[in-house]
Amino acid sequence: MGDGAGDGEERVHIYDRLWWILDPINGYYVKGTYNYLTTAEVPSEHGLFDDVWQKQVPLKVSVFSFLRNRLPTKDNLLHMRIIDHDDTSCIGGCGSSETADHLLFRCDHFGMVWHRIYQWLGISFIAPAVARAHLHQFGHLAGLPRSTHSFLPVIWMASVWVIWKERNNMIFNRKNVDLNHLAGNVKLMSFSWLKANMPTFAFSYNDWWRHPLLCKGGFV
Ligand SMILES: [Zn+2]
Repeated sequence: MGDGAGDGEERVHIYDRLWWILDPINGYYVKGTYNYLTTAEVPSEHGLFDDVWQKQVPLKVSVFSFLRNRLPTKDNLLHMRIIDHDDTSCIGGCGSSETADHLLFRCDHFGMVWHRIYQWLGISFIAPAVARAHLHQFGHLAGLPRSTHSFLPVIWMASVWVIWKERNNMIFNRKNVDLNHLAGNVKLMSFSWLKANMPTFAFSYNDWWRHPLLCKGGFV
């Protein structure tokens, strides 16, 4: 697993699991990961609901789930008759029904995580409200140097992962975390994944936190 990542060392051993599942032999490489996320077959639904509720989520399944509407969101649970019509509201308190696209890309509450990430990156982004399109556009943000496209999908995955975990935290633990803290988790998680799996990523967490786009040189 990871060799350590400075301030994020403790968490590296949790979060870098994603990349080893995606490519346990070669570790992280951008093109392969992106292709994997956008073209791979839909996984079997067998065991999916069991899988995604676990704390140690098998992220391969979860990433597919984000892109293919296989999350156990309330609309899907309603469809499966696991919950009733009167229990479909978004936990964000926005008044909308919970679907994956709503939760991750349209919700006024959880959308604030994205706004903080956009601020962090220094970008203004008219975001599509559908997972696959959102990932594609976020991963190829116009105007940013091509070299930055290497880590944008990583930030995207960290963001949807943090939002999903916070949604579960609010529902099952009846707690919620400050949005700035959630954005901080995205920064730490993305840094930890990159640091653990890209030998050329030589920047400190401090660099990443303050000036993520200046870290692009690490990918040349
Ligand atoms: Zn909402």
